[in-house]
Amino acid sequence: MLGRGYAAWKRRRQPVISRSRGRDPASDPAAPPTSGITPTRAVCRGTRVVSWAVDVGERIQELADQIVVLRDAYYRGSPVVADAEYDAIEDELRTLIDTNPELAPDPNPLNQVGAPAVLHAPIRHSRPMLSLEKATRPEQVEAFFSRFPGQSVVVMPKLDGLSLALVYESGQLARAITRGDGTTGDDVTPLVRALADGVPDRLDVPDRIEVRGEAVMLRSTFAAYNAAHPDKPLINPRNAAAGTLRAKDPATVAERRLQFLAFDLLSDRDNTDADLERALRSMGFTVADMRHCGDAEAAQAVITTIEQQRNDLDYDLDGAVLRLADRDAFAAAGTRSSSPRGALAYKFAAEEKTTVLADVVWDVGKTGKIAPVAWLEPVFVGGTTVTRATLANQEVIRARDIKIGDTVLVRRAGDVIPFVAGVLDASKRTGAERDIVPPTSCPSCEQALTEQGNSRELFCTNLSCPAQTVRRLIHWASRAAADIDAIGGVWIERLADAGILENPSDFYQLTKEGLLQFDRIGEVSAARMIDSIDTSRQVGLRRALIGLAIPMASEGTAARLCRAGFASLEEVADAGVDGLVAVDDIGPKVAASLIEHLTRLRPELERLRAAGVTLDVREEDLPPVVAAGAPLAGKTVVVTGAISDPRSGEKVARPAFQRLCEKAGATIASSVSASTDLLITGADVGAAKLTKAEKLGVTVVDQSEIWQQLHAADLLPR
Ligand SMILES: [Zn+2]
Repeated sequence: MLGRGYAAWKRRRQPVISRSRGRDPASDPAAPPTSGITPTRAVCRGTRVVSWAVDVGERIQELADQIVVLRDAYYRGSPVVADAEYDAIEDELRTLIDTNPELAPDPNPLNQVGAPAVLHAPIRHSRPMLSLEKATRPEQVEAFFSRFPGQSVVVMPKLDGLSLALVYESGQLARAITRGDGTTGDDVTPLVRALADGVPDRLDVPDRIEVRGEAVMLRSTFAAYNAAHPDKPLINPRNAAAGTLRAKDPATVAERRLQFLAFDLLSDRDNTDADLERALRSMGFTVADMRHCGDAEAAQAVITTIEQQRNDLDYDLDGAVLRLADRDAFAAAGTRSSSPRGALAYKFAAEEKTTVLADVVWDVGKTGKIAPVAWLEPVFVGGTTVTRATLANQEVIRARDIKIGDTVLVRRAGDVIPFVAGVLDASKRTGAERDIVPPTSCPSCEQALTEQGNSRELFCTNLSCPAQTVRRLIHWASRAAADIDAIGGVWIERLADAGILENPSDFYQLTKEGLLQFDRIGEVSAARMIDSIDTSRQVGLRRALIGLAIPMASEGTAARLCRAGFASLEEVADAGVDGLVAVDDIGPKVAASLIEHLTRLRPELERLRAAGVTLDVREEDLPPVVAAGAPLAGKTVVVTGAISDPRSGEKVARPAFQRLCEKAGATIASSVSASTDLLITGADVGAAKLTKAEKLGVTVVDQSEIWQQLHAADLLPR
C-alpha cells in the first residue's frame, strides 16, 4: 500500500505538502489534517462494508497502525501518501470509533497530538515572541542590573539565525513555528523534524511546554554546502537558514542542516527547574554558553569575551543576551509593550551590511594574478569603514550574479579581508546595473592575460610588468618578509617609477643622499629609511623565501624547509624537485614552482648576497633541540587562550609559547582531535574547545602547570 501511495506522492510532491494553507490547526491541537475525503482502494484495502463484515476491531487496529506509520514518514519529511489519502484513513477510523467506542485503540492516534500540520500555515503563538530591548553601552548593562538587585543574570551569545518556538504536547514535538511577526508565525514542523539537529522528538515531560530558541546554519555546514555547490552558493548562514525554513519540500534542501540552540522555556508546571539553563539541558536541548553573573562588571567581562571569540565559533552571532537566570523572576518582571523587562540584548558591531557596488577595478598582484576589487559606497561594517572589498574571481562573480550598481552584502569579520558575499535582493535592480567584464589584457602592461584553474583566475605572465614589480617590492618590504617598516608603499612606488627600485636587492643600493634628491623628504626620515633597510639585511632563509613571493610557496612552506635542515636559500635552489618533495607536506607542484623561480632568481640571490643580505637559516627557524628528559616528550599538544609569562605577567605570543613546548618535546597541533594528548589553556578559553576536549578524553592543563614544568627543566629563557 505504501508503494503505490509513495508513487502518488512522488508525482505530486509539491502540492501535497504546501496545499491547504490558511487553516489554523493551533486552535484545535487534535485537529486532523485538512482536505477532503477521497478514499481509494489502494489505501483502504476494501470498502467499509467489507471491513465491517470482517472484524471491526481488527480494522480499527489496522487503521491506527497505518496512521502511526504515515505520520512518522510525514514528520521525517518524506510523506508516502497524498494528504487526501491520509485524511481518508483518519476519517474512516474516526467513524468506526464513533460507532464502536468500546473498540477504541489504546493509544488512540486520533487523540494523540502532533497530528501533521500543513507546512507554512500561519499559527498564533501561545504568548507573543517579543523582541529584546537593545543596548550598546556598558552603562545600559549597569542600569539593567540595578533594576534587579541581588538577581543572578545569565549572559549568552545572541545567535544570528531564526527564532523558533517548539511546542511539545504529551511529551511529543507537536509543532515548530517560526517567529513571524511575533504574534503569528509559520508552521515549519516537517522541515524542522527533517533538517534540524538539537530538536528532540520526545521529551520526558507530560505537560504542554514550549521551548524557544534559535535555528542557525553552522558556519561549517554553510562552507561545506558552498564548496559542494559553487554554482549556486548561499549568501550567508542566516539567509541560508531562512531560505531552508521557507522551502516547500524538505527534499530540496536536504543538505542544508540546521542546528537548534534553545534559549527560553515556557511551562506552566511547577516542578521544572527554575534555572533556565539547567531546565533546558536536563530535557536534552543544546544551549549556547550561558554564564551566570552576579554584577554588571562580571557581565561586561563575559560580553567582551563573547565578542573576542566571535570569529572562533561555528555560528554567527550579533551580540550577547542578558537575562534573569531564574525563570520565575523573569516571568515576574513582566513585559513592556514589545519586550520583556527581564532581558537585554547587547549588540556588537555588525559584520555584514549592504551598500552599493560603485565599480570594479582589476588589480595586479605580486604573482601577476589579476583580481577584481569592489569599490563600494563607504559602509561601516565589522567596526570600520569599508570602501573596498574583494570579489575573489570571475567565477564567483558569475555564480553570485553580481553587477555594478547592485546593492550588495559586504561581510567583514575579524581579520578577514572584507568581501562581497552577493546580492541580497535582485528585485531592487533598476535596469541601470552593468555587467562586470573581466579584462583581456593586463591593466598595467597591456600584455594578454592567461586563465588558470577551475575558477578561471586571470594572470599577467609578464615578469617585467610595472604593477607586479611594485607589488613584489612592497611584499619584500612587508613585515612577514624583510620588514623594512620605514619605507611605505607610496615611497616604494615613487622609487620604482623613478627607475631606482626594480628588484629587492635594489633596496640595499639606496643611500641617504640618493633619497634626499626626492621632494618632501627630510634628513630624519631618509636616515630612518636607511636604518630600516640595514636591519633587514638579517632577513634569513625563511623570511627571504617569503619575500620573493614564489607562486604556491606559502609561509608554511618556508618554515618547513628550514626545519627540514636546509641551511640557505641557495641550497633550496640546488635541491632539485626530488630533494624538495622529500620534505613533509611539500608536493611536486610546489617543488617545481620553487625550482623554476629560484633558478630564474639566481642572479638576484647573488646580488642580495653581494649586498650583505643573509639568506642562511636563522637559529629561531631551526627545529628545536629537545632536551633529555623533556617534560612534554612524545606529547601532542594544543595551546588555546591568552598566554602570559607568570614571572613577569607579560603576554607571550602563542607561537613563542608553542616553541617552548616544542623544546620540551611536544608536537604542536592547531586543533583538538582524538590524537591530542594535552589541551593547554591560557586565559579566556572558549567553552567549545573545552567541551570538545572533554568529549574526546583529552587532558586539560592550565598554562601555569606547564610553565612550572618548563622552569623545572630549565627551558625558560632568562
Ligand atoms: Zn602586466
